[in-house]
Amino acid sequence: MAIPTTPKEQNLNAAAVVPAAGRGERLGPGAPKALRDLGGVPILVHAVRALTEARAVRLVVVAAPPGGGAAEVRSLLDEHGLHGKDVLVVEGGATRQESVRLALEALPASADVVLVHDAARPLVPVEVVDAVADAVAGGADAVVPAVPLADTVKQVEPAGRPGDPEPVVATPERARLRAVQTPQGFRRALLVEVHAKALAEEAAADGEGLPPVTDDAGLVERFGGRVVVVRGHEEAFKVTRPLDLVLAEAVLARRRAVDGY
Ligand code: C5P
Repeated sequence: MAIPTTPKEQNLNAAAVVPAAGRGERLGPGAPKALRDLGGVPILVHAVRALTEARAVRLVVVAAPPGGGAAEVRSLLDEHGLHGKDVLVVEGGATRQESVRLALEALPASADVVLVHDAARPLVPVEVVDAVADAVAGGADAVVPAVPLADTVKQVEPAGRPGDPEPVVATPERARLRAVQTPQGFRRALLVEVHAKALAEEAAADGEGLPPVTDDAGLVERFGGRVVVVRGHEEAFKVTRPLDLVLAEAVLARRRAVDGY
């Protein structure tokens, strides 16, 4: 008998969580970032589709913009043919971290692996999603996809006033740095635990003194967990600024021309 190697063969039950509640102000004025158009389809729909195509993912939970966004997201997903899939929509929160926590609360007990994927990364190749899920299935507690950096990175001391020159304090060795993407994969129990700990810590600190958390793996690290990196993909970039949208349109046009995506 063949040895099971893929998550579905191993009966691995993975759910994906998609924080999509950000305003996306760096992209310019307009609708929340996840609901903006990319080649005729909302950014969020591209991201959810990539997850539903992955081998291991049985369910996707989307955290929609709070204050009524859930109904709009639900109808966009239905409109774009995702009604047949297992996609739940919940209301997100004021921060990315809160949106992820609220989506985690909606997961069924059966999900033992969670992938957290930014809605703002619409073009993540399905191979990256599979690679992250496989690494968790293979025994890793927390997995992030990442790519090497083209730019040298400097650590600075923030300027006293906006626009003032910022003193450089360090130049980390570029070859050892990685730009981290999503989906990030976790044992579900671990991710739930670190989110609960972070919430308790923030309540105790009353919002003072804690560095902002920009990804879920960062929470695992904060509480002493081990995170490993697998290879990401240049097309899994985050759509943040107007230029990213131009690049995303070009990547999408190429995919449509080459493989009828
Ligand atoms: O702002 P940033 O680009 O880091 O956002 C990353 C992801 O987190 C986006 O998909 C965004 O929609 C989501 N987010 C969220 N809730 C917030 C803020 C951001 O779900 N309050």
